[in-house]
Amino acid sequence: MDILNYIDGELVPAESGSWLDNYDPSIGKVYSRIPDSGPADVEKAVSAAKKAFPGWSTCGIQERYRILNRIADLIGANQRELAEAESRDSGKAIRTSSSVDIPRAEANIRFFATAILHFGSESHHMEGEAINYTLRQPIGVVGCISPWNLPLYLFTWKIAPALAAGNCVVAKPSELTPMTAFLFSRLCQEAGLPPGVLNIVHGLGPKAGQAIVEHPDTKAISFTGGTATGKHLAATAAPMFKKLSLELGGKNPNLVFADCDLDKAIATTVHSSFGNNGQICLCGSRIYIQRPVYEQFRDELVRRAEKLTVGNPFDEKTKLGALVSKQHREKVLSYVQLAREEGGTVLTGGETVNPGGEFSEGYYMRPTVIEGLPNSCRTNQEEIFGPVVTLQPFDTEEEALELANSVKYGLSSTIWTNDIHRATRLAEKIEAGIVWINCWMVRDLRTPFGGIKNSGVGREGGFEALRFFTEPKNVCIKY
Ligand code: NDP
Repeated sequence: MDILNYIDGELVPAESGSWLDNYDPSIGKVYSRIPDSGPADVEKAVSAAKKAFPGWSTCGIQERYRILNRIADLIGANQRELAEAESRDSGKAIRTSSSVDIPRAEANIRFFATAILHFGSESHHMEGEAINYTLRQPIGVVGCISPWNLPLYLFTWKIAPALAAGNCVVAKPSELTPMTAFLFSRLCQEAGLPPGVLNIVHGLGPKAGQAIVEHPDTKAISFTGGTATGKHLAATAAPMFKKLSLELGGKNPNLVFADCDLDKAIATTVHSSFGNNGQICLCGSRIYIQRPVYEQFRDELVRRAEKLTVGNPFDEKTKLGALVSKQHREKVLSYVQLAREEGGTVLTGGETVNPGGEFSEGYYMRPTVIEGLPNSCRTNQEEIFGPVVTLQPFDTEEEALELANSVKYGLSSTIWTNDIHRATRLAEKIEAGIVWINCWMVRDLRTPFGGIKNSGVGREGGFEALRFFTEPKNVCIKY
């Protein structure tokens, strides 16, 4: 099957006529091709977006709401097909794509379709002298670049607020997981999205993605991906004075205190460690446990990790499907090897899984729990982004905080305690954009989402996203 670019309302191959292989990670084989796009395709996409901008930015919020809501309806109507496509493309278990990825993609579009109806701007009254009011105007053509771990989920999380605010978009999904973005472009056609309002260019990050970032007419870039790529993007875009939103990597801590509801903490930690094979930027990968409950927590976590079924992503009973690519699985396994060299003990996992039959060449791996490592080692400092967690004991609240803040990342964190004073004290001091207390991944789309330190710059979600995708202009009227 050939995936096509979506440019000026049409589905087209790359200008160059060249293609890239697209793998099904569950079987380790090529199953489709994507356009190997470059600057010429991006040029066409940007010029279509520029042409569409005057109409889309002035058609009114009701019209934008109507079309976006129609797209959300179509995602809902095609949930099963989209979930199967997502699992085939990324290797993730169908239970994840059908209960998390696709419903959330629909919710993203619907949320921002309605959010724009409620979005206001400020006015400042200078008594007896003047009034200021602020216009929030769409920026123009914006670039949206998303990663492979939650493909349609994160793709729509960016383009929905951009479009709702009246911008025209040139977007690139990850070359590893392009399929649902392609299916989505067909739904946009069906919903009557005017040509050029959204353009989707497929291809390699350093080629197609780089061309989007470098193009002088993309005035803002919203990027989700790795910290190294984010740094490179910022170096390209900053001298061009582009607005930038960067959602980057994480190395998130879970702090488990002895006074918590341990059963709940362990059950949730299984999800926060191994959900989507640990390939969620919000997964907790450093688990700090207060000493009196360390052994109990460790033994039960290991027991439950061993019970997780790994294999055929299309079997509803499977908890963990394949990792996204052979190369990524090798990277994750190399960290397990590193952990051994650094003195860690692999309590469970650390090896590949062969489910047999047609899945024997897929990229499967056992959930892995490691203990006995110093906090400063690479395994505890670098993002692994796979089904691998480390355990470390602590004694005091101060020590736990120091450990939590001891990395260069600051995306999310989880605190397990029944002491509300301790929980709120730590929430204030922990260096992270998101703090979950006695829960994980409870998401309200209105809240600010993003990280500090090397986990990113700026916030997405709710009105934060609409503010990012608009330019404020103050107008002052003298009385
Ligand atoms: P990458 O940084 O490798 O890629 C992200 C996207 O950027 C892809 O579409 C990629 O294309 C593209 N890209 C790569 N190089 C360039 C370039 N020079 N110019 C423009 N675009 C480029 O990240 P991954 O896809 O590997 O995603 C995993 C990372 O994403 C992890 O670090 C994870 O923590 C982070 N992440 C952060 C989230 C957050 O909200 N903070 C949420 C989810 C993930 P291609 O795939 O073709 O290379």
